[in-house]
Amino acid sequence: MARAPARLLLGGPLAQAILATVATEASLYRESHGHPPALAVVVCGHEAPSMVYLRQILRGCEKVGLDGRLVEIEGEDPERGLIDALRGLGEDPTVAGIIVQMPLPQTVRLRPVVEAIDPAKDIDGIHPLNAGLVRLGYDGFVPATAHATLEILKGHGIEIAGREAVVVGRSTVVGMPVAFLLVRENATVTVCHSKTRDLRRHVRGAEIVVVAAGHPGLVTGDMLRRGAVVVDVGINAVDGRLVGDVDFPSAERVASAITPVPGGVGPLTNALLLAHLMRAARRQAEARGAGATARSDIGAVVPTIPSLTRGGS
Ligand code: NDP
Repeated sequence: MARAPARLLLGGPLAQAILATVATEASLYRESHGHPPALAVVVCGHEAPSMVYLRQILRGCEKVGLDGRLVEIEGEDPERGLIDALRGLGEDPTVAGIIVQMPLPQTVRLRPVVEAIDPAKDIDGIHPLNAGLVRLGYDGFVPATAHATLEILKGHGIEIAGREAVVVGRSTVVGMPVAFLLVRENATVTVCHSKTRDLRRHVRGAEIVVVAAGHPGLVTGDMLRRGAVVVDVGINAVDGRLVGDVDFPSAERVASAITPVPGGVGPLTNALLLAHLMRAARRQAEARGAGATARSDIGAVVPTIPSLTRGGS
């Protein structure tokens, strides 16, 4: 008997629901503050693939009534320029969130740049304070891609607790935070990386497989356990097409559910980033004592990782 094809874990519908809430929040914020919250997208050099992603985010801001601003750093000393710009944006009360284009140019050191971001505006969770808060179980900003990986599973009703999960990739922005979030959801997690001796053996044992390695087709159907749930975070341009890190045609024949690329984690990441922006805006308004008057709490709708929160930050 032919096997039913894997269920597609689409990010689009989940993203639309989140963006509808963001749009409502943005309009309420604008009514009470006279301007929408701004997201500053700071770029230094024009590395093509990430510019495509950043422009998508700016377009997304426009669609939901947020103020997306492109801040371009030029000049002889890009590191100094970046740090000065980030400090200025930190002090600008109209700017609620800041993201910085990665990777940085080779001449620019990552650490001083990351540390120049106001942690309250660090909506993609790259500042050490947010990484630490999240790691300790307090309420900090989680990197949006890692958050989207968890939400795509939960949003489709995939059970996580008690299951064996493998995360392929250990970067600070994707692999490690995903692994940590899965542990918080009570999965048993193995993290694989480029020095892992037998990737196939680890992947074969997993009920949930998350792949974030930046290598097209790294995980193939014959590596998967039958019925595995597969989340493909990878985005790679191959022959003018976007493909993931999983070989989709072979994997969908074995998996019970799988994210497509494009259309899986990507759209949800962008939507969650804007949800993080609204959350940052509301908190900053509260901290300024301006009395944020937004009527609904996006935190209740979007970052559905309650087990992450032990208390206020
Ligand atoms: P990095 O290059 O920072 O990290 C890649 C990780 O994969 C590293 O830990 C590396 O191991 C591991 N790796 C590389 N090759 C192998 C291999 N052959 N076997 C096992 N592990 C391997 O990438 P990112 O984490 O930033 O991104 C990962 C992917 O996710 C990329 O395709 C990127 O484009 C995509 N991405 C998607 C986003 C979205 O919204 N969907 C957002 C951000 C990224 P080691 O540590 O040993 O080097």
